[in-house]
Amino acid sequence: MKQFRNNVIRAGLGALYFTGAHYLLRPIFAGVGAVFMLHHVRPPRDAEFQPNHHLEIAPEFLGTILAYLRARNIDIITMDEVHRRLIERNFSRRFACFTLDDGYRDNRDFALPVMREFDAPLTVYVASDFAEGAGRLWWVALEMVIAKASSIEVKIGNATNRLDTSTPAAKQAAFDRAHDWLRALPGEHDIQREISALCARHGVDESAICRELCMSWDELKPFANDPLVTIGAHTVTHCNLAKQTGDVAASEIATSRVRIESALQRPVLHLAYPYGDRIAAGPREFALAQAAGFKTAVTTRPGMIFPESADHLTALQRVSLNGNYQDERILPVLTSGAATAMWNGFRRIDAA
Ligand SMILES: [Zn+2]
Repeated sequence: MKQFRNNVIRAGLGALYFTGAHYLLRPIFAGVGAVFMLHHVRPPRDAEFQPNHHLEIAPEFLGTILAYLRARNIDIITMDEVHRRLIERNFSRRFACFTLDDGYRDNRDFALPVMREFDAPLTVYVASDFAEGAGRLWWVALEMVIAKASSIEVKIGNATNRLDTSTPAAKQAAFDRAHDWLRALPGEHDIQREISALCARHGVDESAICRELCMSWDELKPFANDPLVTIGAHTVTHCNLAKQTGDVAASEIATSRVRIESALQRPVLHLAYPYGDRIAAGPREFALAQAAGFKTAVTTRPGMIFPESADHLTALQRVSLNGNYQDERILPVLTSGAATAMWNGFRRIDAA
């Protein structure tokens, strides 16, 4: 199913490019700017089974994007500046803003040097438990279990299913199925229980994953001091906020801010919702972010920034730089807004 959807997107992006339709759509959907969403930036790996590959782009591709934007005289600005331009209705120049979720160490090692080459700022959204070394990156744990195993057992509904994971194709199919099953479980604890059981059974050290991939507070301190870097909040545990009670969701948002501010001794004014799609962040979360005093909050709903985004500062849409589409030819399509407009059924704002 995921492969099918990927093919459709690829055909859609390709079709938009080759027909030139993005030029026609541009006046309506290009908006005043874009907030790009990234996760990992690191050199590509060879492994055939890379189910989380959409979450990483190569440093070279980041350079290609920055060069493309610079060549078109598009301003590359901070989230503070996005906020300022929106509330002042200052849209005399088009802009792009780069945001990276989760606080991965490769953001420092591979993204920052490229951003520096172009004197371009970036915002990194940190989940405070990840910085403590106590985060649970269950999607990486699942990848590691399936990479190692030749079959896994998962309890979907009342039935125990044995999923074949003996070949790269079988591993991908099993990952997609297990991923969908896990995200559909009622609570964060259910996901953690199932993942812990899988890790224990297949000898994967789950607790090492976070420390291996994410910056610690000690690493974040000098990183946050770089003039190009803004640190934002990404909740405490990286939970699906919409599935929590109001009190827990409010505390996840507010406590992550307090923890980051006290560890880094600087104000944290911008938030990204974990997962960030419709089932993880809605009007209740947008109001909670506002009540917690954030100037902006970003979702993973696809879309450009429009003048009317100023009325939805805690529900800003982003343009994903998806690792499965690292092709320079899609850049005119992405920056035209045509691709995200297509996703949204040709609505400009998706904040309901
Ligand atoms: Zn995240």
